Amino acid sequence: MRFDILTLFPEMIRNTLSSSIVGRAEKKGIIDINAVDIRDYTLDKHRHTDDYPYGGGAGMVMSPEPIYRAYMSIKERAKDAPVIYMSPQGKPFTQKKAEEYAKLQGIVILCGHYEGVDERVIEEIVTEEVSVGDYVLTGGELGAMIVVDAVSRLIPGVLSKSESFENETFKDNLLEYPQYTRPPVFMGRAVPEVLLSGNHGLVDKWRREKSLERTLKKRPELLEKAKLSKEDEAYLKSLMEAEAHV
Ligand code: SAM
Repeated sequence: MRFDILTLFPEMIRNTLSSSIVGRAEKKGIIDINAVDIRDYTLDKHRHTDDYPYGGGAGMVMSPEPIYRAYMSIKERAKDAPVIYMSPQGKPFTQKKAEEYAKLQGIVILCGHYEGVDERVIEEIVTEEVSVGDYVLTGGELGAMIVVDAVSRLIPGVLSKSESFENETFKDNLLEYPQYTRPPVFMGRAVPEVLLSGNHGLVDKWRREKSLERTLKKRPELLEKAKLSKEDEAYLKSLMEAEAHV
């Protein structure tokens, strides 16, 4: 899968995404991260990429032309790819969205900076706006890296078997069960015995119950969309009844 990232700070992207699991996937050729420097597509000698806002007001606005030319430089290769503008005004980025993107050949991500991007280039090239949360960042690069990271790890071959995402948080709208490793006792807290039992059936049952319990406690709204079996529903009911009696 290919990620074309239109940015004023390509080094930020390259330096961060070249390490760890994503960096390893790129070295293996499973993903291709192409940080396109918008400044390379300016035509004036001072290589301006921004200008004052029409109508006045504080800050600078990213000019449309260099962004458009940067996009045109990759358009041929990325012709069916959605063009995502990272924006606090966008739809929230979720695991479901990451799963959708992971099925594509590629995506293009536009990172804004300063006061944002001239609206006309957004209208011209952008197909969707995506936010990484209800707060305002200085630029879209951190958001773009969040998207690349979350999407990459869903692409077959990026995670090794031991790093699998099979049962993790948000899978089927449930939070993951608690995890433990050695030592068996830490600060007087023992690992739940069932995990040492070697009985896979019991371990699976315990994990499912913990997953339901955690979701009910931490993110109950997820349960409305979760795929639940009759046993799951009965277990949740027993938890809620127990809670009501406390
Ligand atoms: N003036 C803009 C507004 O009020 O909507 C905010 C501009 S922000 C300082 C600069 C850039 O950071 C944006 O163009 C966007 O690309 C990025 N950005 C900021 N917050 C973001 C968020 N929550 N999610 C994704 N991108 C964000």
